[in-house]
Amino acid sequence: MKKGLLIVLSGPSGVGKGTVCRSLQARMPGLCFSVSATTRPPRPGEIEGRDYYFLSDDHFQRLLAEGAFLEWALVHGRHYGTLKDKVSKVLASGNDLLLEIDIQGAEQVRRQMPEAVTIFMAPPSMAALEQRIIGRGTEDAVKIRQRLEAARREMEAYRNYEYLVVNDEVEATAALLASIIQSEKCRVSRGARPPVQEVSE
Ligand code: ADP
Ligand code: 5GP
Repeated sequence: MKKGLLIVLSGPSGVGKGTVCRSLQARMPGLCFSVSATTRPPRPGEIEGRDYYFLSDDHFQRLLAEGAFLEWALVHGRHYGTLKDKVSKVLASGNDLLLEIDIQGAEQVRRQMPEAVTIFMAPPSMAALEQRIIGRGTEDAVKIRQRLEAARREMEAYRNYEYLVVNDEVEATAALLASIIQSEKCRVSRGARPPVQEVSE
């Protein structure tokens, strides 16, 4: 069976990754979304096992020591990681999987799985990003400032990704992601180009 496609999506906090992914899920019902483990507490409305696996610091460190993570990172002072087992199961069953992870995690995945498709989501402007983080209402003023400072650094990383999408309008961005994924699935090969074959007439 053909292995599924691994898609990595990164972008600063508040750019709209979660919102766009919800629309993408409706457009591509066959696409799987990886559920990460994190030591940050759940936000109102977030559900264990759907949005994240919410773990204690001890539990996260135990999994880390066991080598359970494909990648992990300390983001805004909390640990986040992708469980290796879940990724291999989904891909081995031929399903495509999207990882929504930060730029440090994306770098680790790129090294281990160079065939992954990498997409960076940017805001239309820093002012728009600030408005989105404030509008979401999930962070206090100190955390908002930290996330905006981090965003300025993270934005530089877009050069390491294969695709850059600006999230101006949710539905248009979701449509763009869907078309990138569909195009990637039509590729004859990923990574090194195969040798040119002679075609007889
Ligand atoms: P992320 O997952 O990247 O941290 P969210 O999906 O939580 O970001 O979005 C942050 C806030 O921005 C939410 O309140 C969301 O409704 C809003 N938002 C997302 N995309 C857009 C957009 N294209 N235009 C305006 N607001 C947006
Ligand atoms: P949030 O706390 O807003 O849900 O996520 C904060 C940041 O953590 C985002 O940049 C998000 O992409 C990143 N993140 C979420 N899950 C993972 C993960 O499993 N690994 C890594 N490296 N980053 C993650």
